[in-house]
Amino acid sequence: MQTQNQAAPDGLECVRRFINTWSISNQTRMEMDDLQLLWGSAERWRDELSRHPRADSDTLERLLALRSDLRKSCEGLDDDRNLLNDWFSHEALSVHVESTDEGVPRLRVIPADSSYIAHTLAVVANAISAGTWSRLKTCGDCRWAFYDTTRNGGKRWCGMSKGGADGRACGTIAKVSAFRARVAAQAKLDLGES
Ligand SMILES: [Zn+2]
Repeated sequence: MQTQNQAAPDGLECVRRFINTWSISNQTRMEMDDLQLLWGSAERWRDELSRHPRADSDTLERLLALRSDLRKSCEGLDDDRNLLNDWFSHEALSVHVESTDEGVPRLRVIPADSSYIAHTLAVVANAISAGTWSRLKTCGDCRWAFYDTTRNGGKRWCGMSKGGADGRACGTIAKVSAFRARVAAQAKLDLGES
């Protein structure tokens, strides 16, 4: 888990934080889930997750389901988009036309009620339109959600170097493992040939 240079643009950063309320500890490698704690405290919700407060309709059960589906989408497990479409068709969202600086009309999805879920889905919908949703990814190793800022969008791990006490060098670890495997394979070959 590394937080440097991982922040997503605009409201998408809040969605990234929401997805990362479930994570795998760097130290113990155990799963950690902070959502219930945040859900139970308006203060912690505001300070650690979002300035958009939760409404009565934002039950813990529904938030857990939303987080799970958003995570699956980021992990590439919603290729046919059924999970996202299901949320979009059931939540209170509406479409708004606004003008860009170039005077071209642009569609913007806005939440039609004050729930955190509708707010979050509107952010996701607008990120899909803007092409930024596909850059929100999860680490192939520790599953931490990060925003891919690389030019070619080919980043696969949360960090290539350890970035502080919580930092985890997943990319480096994967590269070292691959290197060791290659060395071991070569050693076997060399033994076989001699
Ligand atoms: Zn990682």
